[in-house]
Amino acid sequence: MTRIRRLDPETRRKIAAGEVVTRPAAVVRELVENSLDAEASRIAVEIDGDGTEAIRVRDDGHGMSREGAALAVERHTTSKLSAPDGIERVSTLGFRGEALPSIAAVSRLTLTTNDGGPRGTTVRVGDDEVTTEPAGRAQGTTVEVRDLFHSLPARRKQLASANAEFARVSKLLSRYALCHPTVRFSLAHDGRETFSTPGTGDTDALLGVYDRTVAGQSTTFSFVTDDTASVDSDSGAGHDTEIRVEGVLCYPSITRATRDHVHVAVNGRPLTDGTLRGAVVAGYGSLLPADRSPIAVVRVGVPPEAVDHNVHPAKAEVAFRVAGVVDAVERAVGDALTTTDLRRSGEVSMDLDAGLRPLDGESPLSKVSVIGQFRDLYLLCAADDDLLIVDQHAAHERVNYERLRATVGDLPSQAVEPPATLRVSAPEAALVDSLGDELRAMGYDAATVGDGTVRVSAVPAPLGRTATPASLRDVLATLDREGARGVDDVRDELLKDVACHPSLKAGDALSTDEARALLDRLGACEQPYACPHGRPTVLSIDEATLVRGFERGNTRLG
Ligand code: ADP
Ligand code: MG
Repeated sequence: MTRIRRLDPETRRKIAAGEVVTRPAAVVRELVENSLDAEASRIAVEIDGDGTEAIRVRDDGHGMSREGAALAVERHTTSKLSAPDGIERVSTLGFRGEALPSIAAVSRLTLTTNDGGPRGTTVRVGDDEVTTEPAGRAQGTTVEVRDLFHSLPARRKQLASANAEFARVSKLLSRYALCHPTVRFSLAHDGRETFSTPGTGDTDALLGVYDRTVAGQSTTFSFVTDDTASVDSDSGAGHDTEIRVEGVLCYPSITRATRDHVHVAVNGRPLTDGTLRGAVVAGYGSLLPADRSPIAVVRVGVPPEAVDHNVHPAKAEVAFRVAGVVDAVERAVGDALTTTDLRRSGEVSMDLDAGLRPLDGESPLSKVSVIGQFRDLYLLCAADDDLLIVDQHAAHERVNYERLRATVGDLPSQAVEPPATLRVSAPEAALVDSLGDELRAMGYDAATVGDGTVRVSAVPAPLGRTATPASLRDVLATLDREGARGVDDVRDELLKDVACHPSLKAGDALSTDEARALLDRLGACEQPYACPHGRPTVLSIDEATLVRGFERGNTRLG
């Protein structure tokens, strides 16, 4: 017979703590939230191995007094709730006073802190005693957690590989960094820094967590509800509530397969709440391709009494005591995207490597002045604050292509003397027979002569530029794939190829007048900024990039 017996208090404590502290990332979350609550402007996180070896979190927050530090590692001690109704009005991230003791119960925890006095304090939580001693430290707090779960082998076994556990920490910390862009964050794994943010705002935080492309194609926004929503709880304030929504949105040209990169925070706490993420995606509306999600950081601010953080043990979700938050998020995002000129999405360049960007959007070409020509290949031009570099060959292709495309009706053709013969497959031969009219409209005269052979006696020659007889093969391939619907495509492809052949060749010197004429004609094109095959025709460097490159200060883009 098994006897049921009561667990001793120490074992109960460890089991309970193991429920709260589930893995290294959970420890990091609690420690980082404490640093944020202490109003740190810098938070450095270091992980050794999978995090059970060591986790260190350093901050420059307000720190703790000697007595405060000793108290902080005891159960249910917190400096953050005072009045009994305080739980209804939490403006800090922590409030339960259980994180430090829970972590200490399943690890070896050392806390070193200084609240601004001449000496700091180190508190060590051992297996059965807490020791306190003076320590040298500048204002702020360092918490080191070693040997996590050493007394809970079962919990330890549930952990994934070191890289997988670290990946969780990294994901978590990047959320906090994005949601607190004015705080400097850094993360190191086994002594190597994996990312950092400079604490200088949204765009730079995106750059730290993602990359230049993502940061460069983003727009910051802020929004406040104008119509007032009301708090609908008796414990809430009961009067009108303002909802603030702000953050940074990447242009819909940059997307991800999952909603993992939609970062939402309420009153400083990152949430994985599906409803709010859904509201952000809804704000993008039809700008997003189907099944794709944006990269966005959206911070919601409501009065503390309007939100209940106590509905989720890990505080990953909240309940609102105020109506209209989801609507406000969707509207804020939607408004921000309609007021942004998405066409000039390459505009913000972060440094010199990224400084060269293809131009797109509204035409500045009528206002540019030609500075000169470089290597007989490129035109250098000034346009307001931008230096433009025009690929004269690509520009000429675009001009020719649009001129060719403007010619309507049958394309003129030119006889091939003597007629050329082409070997074709049986299905291609059948196409030549069935599409004779379409081929003639395009300028080909072609007929099957048996034996899988086609005789080509005329080819398209728009504006005096002649296609080759062999180009018929490509035409047939397209028509085979697309049927008669493909006729317009075929015509277009043909014009692109023809346009690219006799265009101005690289290496042609242009006089200033010729350069000016080319730019005017390019500016008159429907799509001046790409050659017919999609390559850019004009690159631009804005002055801010030069200012940065020459280290003349950060004044333009801040
Ligand atoms: P909670 O955050 O819920 O109050 P914790 O156990 O996480 O509970 O922390 C207990 C107390 O220790 C906090 O209320 C705070 O006063 C203090 N504390 C913890 N970490 C820090 C820190 N990094 N800087 C300053 N004070 C801290
Ligand atoms: Mg806490």
